[in-house]
Amino acid sequence: MHNRTLLKLLAVLLTGLLTWSCSGEPRAIHQTSTLDALKAGAFGGVITVEALERQGTLGLGTLDGLDGELVQVDGVAYHVGMDGVARAARPGATIPFATTVRFAPDASRRLQGQGLGLALEDVCRVLDELAPDPQRFAAARVRGRFSTVEARSVPRQLPPYPTLAEVLPRQAVFQLEQVVGDMVGFRFPEHAQSYGVAGWHLHFISTDRTRGGHVLAATLHDGIARVMTVDRLELYVPPDLPKAAGGSAGGAGGHP
Ligand SMILES: [Zn+2]
Repeated sequence: MHNRTLLKLLAVLLTGLLTWSCSGEPRAIHQTSTLDALKAGAFGGVITVEALERQGTLGLGTLDGLDGELVQVDGVAYHVGMDGVARAARPGATIPFATTVRFAPDASRRLQGQGLGLALEDVCRVLDELAPDPQRFAAARVRGRFSTVEARSVPRQLPPYPTLAEVLPRQAVFQLEQVVGDMVGFRFPEHAQSYGVAGWHLHFISTDRTRGGHVLAATLHDGIARVMTVDRLELYVPPDLPKAAGGSAGGAGGHP
């Protein structure tokens, strides 16, 4: 009897180990294409929304043709168009650039702003405190009541594609006020800045999932910040990427 229980336990452990190894590294950030390629105009979709939603639960990016901003929260990817309106992204829609992770935070902190609230810089400082090693990747989710969120979206392009820097002057900027929602995103270390944005890159979506965009500025009234530190990057480099114009990231290229 005792032996049989032991065998059962061993079988359960073995199954668990096999499942774990077959499902791959659970704490990896999945990066589709590179920031350098996006800056150079690689706007054509290379994976589907459905595939992205299998890779991770929290993410950001853009859609085929640089069509607006993508925000993924609780597993669901949303598309924010030039009108600032968020809609669930079509499962078959394609994505030229995205970052996603199976979000499992390992640090969190309650935030309470004074007066007008905590500025975005202050929120990012807290996120850095929760993931103190700047050489490591991090993912974050800040859920709360925002006094203001300045968000933007970008207009869809047709091939032959321009560079990102050529499109950004035509971005649409939205001012959201007294909005409850989630700010989600990633911090790539400087040594990985040709793949993703060095420092915090955050997208926003309201709790009713109707408004959002790439975060330019914000003030947080109160909320909770959760951070996951990650050491593994799974990079998908699609074939036929354009060469980066003018070298690596940083400078005039801007953020996706
Ligand atoms: Zn962005």
